[in-house]
Amino acid sequence: MRVRLSKCSISDAEVNAVSIVMKAEYLGMGSKVLEFEELIKKYIDTSMEVVCVNTGTSALELALSALDIGIGDEVLVPSLTYVGTFQAISATGATPVACEIDESNFFLSIADARSKITSNTKAIMPVHYASASEGMSDVYALASEFGLRVIEDAAQAFGCMRDGKKIGSNGDILCFSFDGIKNITCGEGGAILTKDPKVTQRLKDGRLLGILKDSEKRYAGARSWDFDVHHQGFRFHMSNINAAIGIVQLSRIEEFKLKRQRIAKNYIEAFSEIQELAPLELNYDHIIPHIFVIKANHRDRLREHLINNNIECGLHYKPNHMLTKYNNGVQLPVTEYCYGMAITLPCHVDITDCEQQFVIERVREFYLG
Ligand SMILES: *Cc1c(COP(=O)(O)O)cnc(C)c1O
Repeated sequence: MRVRLSKCSISDAEVNAVSIVMKAEYLGMGSKVLEFEELIKKYIDTSMEVVCVNTGTSALELALSALDIGIGDEVLVPSLTYVGTFQAISATGATPVACEIDESNFFLSIADARSKITSNTKAIMPVHYASASEGMSDVYALASEFGLRVIEDAAQAFGCMRDGKKIGSNGDILCFSFDGIKNITCGEGGAILTKDPKVTQRLKDGRLLGILKDSEKRYAGARSWDFDVHHQGFRFHMSNINAAIGIVQLSRIEEFKLKRQRIAKNYIEAFSEIQELAPLELNYDHIIPHIFVIKANHRDRLREHLINNNIECGLHYKPNHMLTKYNNGVQLPVTEYCYGMAITLPCHVDITDCEQQFVIERVREFYLG
């Protein structure tokens, strides 16, 4: 038996939805994408506009570009995130400024972010680490104090709640990912949400090479022949095939939520008497955990023990300031300490009780003998 760390859950309904799109022979961006955007808006119950794109990383890059953030600008971002967050910033020519996290929940340290604000700082990109975002209101307070834009990397947070509202019901700009292992998948995909009408139009045009109003034409099944372009654009739009997968996944999200929450709670309960393990302080009733991360003494030996037992585990994430491209000599002791302690245990919708029990027993035997 090999226990997988993460994977998507695909039923016959997703397979059928894709084959309907294939048979209709309109594979690119068309009415399925519009339908998916409207369903997301309804699900989140938001007045924000929804713009779907091909990946979560493109969502972040396109959002920055729609704000005209680029060369000479700085964006504050936690170092402990997927490299896509950093690459999206550097792709625009802007500089990602690596910040510390809080040890309790691995969310951006507001104090450290504040200390790194300069006259070049244009935006903050907080990360919904392990799907959680307690502390986001402090980010918005800091942003309004210094006149900064906020682009939330909510790649892991689709379907989550904070303060009684769904993530995406409010905020400046938010980016979700629907890649193969996220809370819902499109195969690959992403979405950007914003209330700002100017930004919305820049995003809609920007995902289709900057061609003015091309999104609107494609939704009506038409194409642009005589057109104009004002800004740098990208080929970042979503296809009907990917949207069709996402529409079915969205209809299953309640099932996904309950399963992922139960997995996290099972781990926490089973490890409660192990002094050498400390779960992150996250509210698993409010989030849909994309990853289950725990702080572990003797992390590397635990990891080896699990791998030897055919259990996949993860390291989320190698801090970006430790990568050659982004290493400018900065030291982030809290981030480096947390990185050395954190281990990610298997968490996905199709994990069986028997598989999770196996993981739990192997961890317990490691610490308790
Ligand atoms: C998955 C992820 C991304 C990138 O999303 P893709 O759709 O894979 O490009 C960015 N940031 C975080 C925190 C993620 O987990």
